Amino acid sequence: MPPAQQPSAQTQAGIDRLFSSDPFDNTEEAQALFHESFATCAGVHYKGNSYFRGLWDHAGLKPGDIKSEHDLTRVPPVMVNLFKEHELITGSPDDVVLNLTSSGTSGQKSQILLDHQSLVRVKKLAWMIHDALGMTSQDAVNYLCFTYDPKVATNLGTAFTDELLTSFTNKNEVYYAIQWDHAKGDFSLNVDGVIKTLQRYAASPKPVRILGFPAHLYKIVLDHNIKLRLPINSWIQTGGGWKGFASEEIPKSEFRNFMADRLGIPASNNRDMFGMVEHGIPYCDCPRGQLHIPNYARVYIRSPKDLSIVSNGETGLIHFLCSYVTSYPSISLLTTDYGRIGKCDCGIGGATLEILGRAGVHKHKGCALTASKLLDESSTRT
Ligand SMILES: [Zn+2]
Repeated sequence: MPPAQQPSAQTQAGIDRLFSSDPFDNTEEAQALFHESFATCAGVHYKGNSYFRGLWDHAGLKPGDIKSEHDLTRVPPVMVNLFKEHELITGSPDDVVLNLTSSGTSGQKSQILLDHQSLVRVKKLAWMIHDALGMTSQDAVNYLCFTYDPKVATNLGTAFTDELLTSFTNKNEVYYAIQWDHAKGDFSLNVDGVIKTLQRYAASPKPVRILGFPAHLYKIVLDHNIKLRLPINSWIQTGGGWKGFASEEIPKSEFRNFMADRLGIPASNNRDMFGMVEHGIPYCDCPRGQLHIPNYARVYIRSPKDLSIVSNGETGLIHFLCSYVTSYPSISLLTTDYGRIGKCDCGIGGATLEILGRAGVHKHKGCALTASKLLDESSTRT
């Protein structure tokens, strides 16, 4: 094998053009940008990854064949479990600048390897999507993050995500609620710290953003009977679901109304997000609470029986395509999540994705479970 080479400047440009376009533009011109980006990115993996090449050869497909929406539906998926069981890379390990660990259960984690350009793109596409959804701002914001302090947990996907999510505004203060406890030698959720931080933020005129698992915020506000008014232009950005607290989960609309009442954050500023470290594209709520699919990705719903694509509105396994990553062959990822395609008439383009749960619930508790255990322990202590 010749030494792995970084993609040429021309190749990078072919991938990059998509990420300067409006993420919710669904015109044919915009779709063609995705075709170009995906075909170019697939070309990098086809050339540099023998497993990827074998899959495509078996499917009778070459990256250069990708010219239409129909061609994309022929792209062979890779099961997400494969990434958990094998260390896969395209190109040279020397070019990897960030190694992210997905939130799988112990022993079942993916290592996601990003080279420089892939990291630049994943940050840019996240910014473009949040900007298009009205979620970026020049305000100096006070952040409350229900996640691991990234100074200690540098390679956890959730910590990276939250660091990324705090980059869409200017920052005043960032409070990380899950802190390293030197005495215990483990992470611990600082409930007292969260309550004091909320009170302090409410007394400041600066807008607030609360990031993290919805159950954390919900339980603290409920258990400690918190009622305050956070400043105007404050937001809640949740993600990661209610895993570990399934029995206490409340519908999204109820959560939004509850937080509007208790924290003064309007429902339209309360947004949930779905993302997978292996896929990299954030799916964020529109003001009506629907996850619009950006033109930076394609989502197919496949029958669990034969993997055929089912009609819009029908339930099946979610298959994601993306084109930003050249160092890790996860650009066509078959997940173990069930979902269906819908629509929303809020005015933002794109079909919507509804996440209906996980096919292998017990295998996917991951970070949310660890974090929920922390919350239980903290609740019983206070
Ligand atoms: Zn919408």
